[in-house]
Amino acid sequence: MPLPPLSDRTETLVVLQGVSKSYGTAEGPLMVLQAMDLTLDAGQSLALTGESGSGKSTLLHLVAGLDHPDQGRIMVDGQEIGGLDDKGRASLRRSTVGLVFQQFNLIPSLTVAANLAFHARLAGRFNATWQRQLTERLGLDHLLARYPEQLSGGQQQRVAIGRTLAARPKLVLADEPTGNLDEATGDAVMALMLSLVAETGSSLLMVTHSDRLARCLDRRIHLRSGCIDATTVPTA
Ligand code: ADP
Ligand code: MG
Repeated sequence: MPLPPLSDRTETLVVLQGVSKSYGTAEGPLMVLQAMDLTLDAGQSLALTGESGSGKSTLLHLVAGLDHPDQGRIMVDGQEIGGLDDKGRASLRRSTVGLVFQQFNLIPSLTVAANLAFHARLAGRFNATWQRQLTERLGLDHLLARYPEQLSGGQQQRVAIGRTLAARPKLVLADEPTGNLDEATGDAVMALMLSLVAETGSSLLMVTHSDRLARCLDRRIHLRSGCIDATTVPTA
């Protein structure tokens, strides 16, 4: 039986209003994001491109509540992140947000099976049927008893993706998720991730260097000098 959809597609899941962020450096403040506005609807996927250093990871960290903007508001699933304390932000991440970063961050002392189930169990959303489907689709059945150090990079990344999607987060934040893999492996893992995200009904905000991948998503924005590039066009 298919799992019910996560949410109504018309709901707005992420809102950024006038978000600015700078870092203090030895040469003085470095302005990274300037008065940025952005929305992401439930179920929608958005590619974030831009040169190295253009602020893509900074933007993702702000949306994940891992860092604070200097100015502006960020709402995720109806909650203003700035109004939450550390505990509140951790709880929002656990309940709503799934992170897939370049570093796989698997737990070395746990088997693949336990790693896959970890976040879903923490979030109280473990579903054995979905877990089995994910494991099969990601080609991880024969690896369940292994430990992360016994896996290749591509296999570890598939476990990291499975672990995130097992909890069926409303929002998936992915930062160059295949940046550590060779191109062929990275492409195969990404294609799988995009179709699984679509099936899950999650929204996706994904940083990528690849034009080709960016074109597979519903929308695309390009960051330049801390702003959304005026030439940004919808991909659809
Ligand atoms: P991207 O992900 O697009 O490559 P980042 O968001 O990581 O860019 O970084 C944007 C800019 O901010 C870069 O110039 C980077 O060097 C700088 N930066 C990132 N994090 C910090 C930090 N913690 N302290 C100082 N500067 C930082
Ligand atoms: Mg980055």
